[in-house]
Amino acid sequence: MSHLVGGVDLDHALPRRGRARSRSFGTGSNRIDSSRTEHGLIASRSRLGSSSPASASATRRASRCARITTAPSTRSRRLSRRCPKRADDRAGPRECSGAPRPDGRLSAGAPTPLSFTHREGGGALRAVLFEDVGKISFGDYPEPTLLDPGDAIIKITTAAICGSDLHLIHGRVPGMRPGSVMGHEFVGEIVDAGSDVTKFMVGDRVVGSFLIVCGRCWFCRRGEFNNCDQMWILGYGMFVGDLDGSQAEYVRIPVADWNLHAVDPALSDEQAVFAGDILTTGAYIADRARIAEGDVVAITGAGPVGLFTLMAVLTYTPSVVYTVDMAEDRLKLAESIGATPVDASKVNPVVEIQRRTDDRGADVVIECVGNPAAFTTAINVARAGGTVAVIGVYTEMSYDLPLGEVWRRGLTIEMGGSCNVQGHWSRVLEHVKEGRIDPTVIISHTLPLEDALHGYDMFEKREAMKVVLKT
Ligand SMILES: [Zn+2]
Ligand SMILES: [Zn+2]
Repeated sequence: MSHLVGGVDLDHALPRRGRARSRSFGTGSNRIDSSRTEHGLIASRSRLGSSSPASASATRRASRCARITTAPSTRSRRLSRRCPKRADDRAGPRECSGAPRPDGRLSAGAPTPLSFTHREGGGALRAVLFEDVGKISFGDYPEPTLLDPGDAIIKITTAAICGSDLHLIHGRVPGMRPGSVMGHEFVGEIVDAGSDVTKFMVGDRVVGSFLIVCGRCWFCRRGEFNNCDQMWILGYGMFVGDLDGSQAEYVRIPVADWNLHAVDPALSDEQAVFAGDILTTGAYIADRARIAEGDVVAITGAGPVGLFTLMAVLTYTPSVVYTVDMAEDRLKLAESIGATPVDASKVNPVVEIQRRTDDRGADVVIECVGNPAAFTTAINVARAGGTVAVIGVYTEMSYDLPLGEVWRRGLTIEMGGSCNVQGHWSRVLEHVKEGRIDPTVIISHTLPLEDALHGYDMFEKREAMKVVLKT
């Protein structure tokens, strides 16, 4: 089924620059737009040098073919030793599966071609598919299979739609392959795993990370997973791994040991699903902001990331948290979680927060919107000697920073970059298990997977705060 988001062909309705800015509202330093809130999913061309999408794809195809057609590499010989049942298999690691399927069969027999195949007897698998800028569909896709011994195949039980998914549809993030599967937030059950997967077994219930790291590079070894040399992103296009996403029945996760986290049986899917993305994004930036007990904290933006940041900030027991936004319903939700709302459509948030703090301003400001006007507001809301931590995503090439004023007031500016999911999700899941954070309060709609396009429609029109999809 073909689908135009919001009933509008976004590719033609607005020029690209207009699309990127069309959802902002307010003026000048008061402009706060929580719809731009996200967690850092901007594809980086710099990691690919000057390679074009076509050449990157060709290189990837060539390397895969080489793995199959040449003599076994050191790696594949090592795999053969590890898997006696496949010791006579000269085709390399793709065919080596260390774990049986639920039916007891191994995942592969004789060497198979690279192309995907449909699950035996299972019929077509269904997923949300990217077609073009402004166009997604719900349709069939090939069954994912193990391509590397570090892979796992997950049967999705719960997925979610993220604000970053809209950036692909809007064309703000390039590189999505037509026909590839959308989505990067999910909980599911492992149904197959390669021989290098040591932390999990078939049948384990897991939450997945949007950030797909290598687990081996210098940054990963230091725990700075968000700076991984590989830094793939699930369901986010050919510049970041060209991986099919998780708004589907099944998904393949590379380097499963690092990119999946076990889900405690006491937690529901809905409690765990955001730990691989926006909930941990909130916890990550709250950690980077170094909040002290009793601090005055201000958060710009009451979208999903702003609200999850609020939940994480509250675990540091600040004296007050001001949430700045212009949407009344979002401010009400923030207030119900524990914030003091500041409606930027009615008051100047800088003046208002200074008025409430004896003209000092906030000790810590966390910017969750991602546009220059919101950043300016954040700088002006912070007190002298305060900290401005930024998790909103910026694509602007430059910004006219009031350097002298920032220096004079001794501000610390903490740029969060992409969320370090793997470095923080255990702590986040513990908060949820202990009842300190309830991420389910932002779920506005729960739909069957086949109604995902309706969910996208509502999300695009801001009729839904967060949409969860059940398979
Ligand atoms: Zn996301
Ligand atoms: Zn790495």
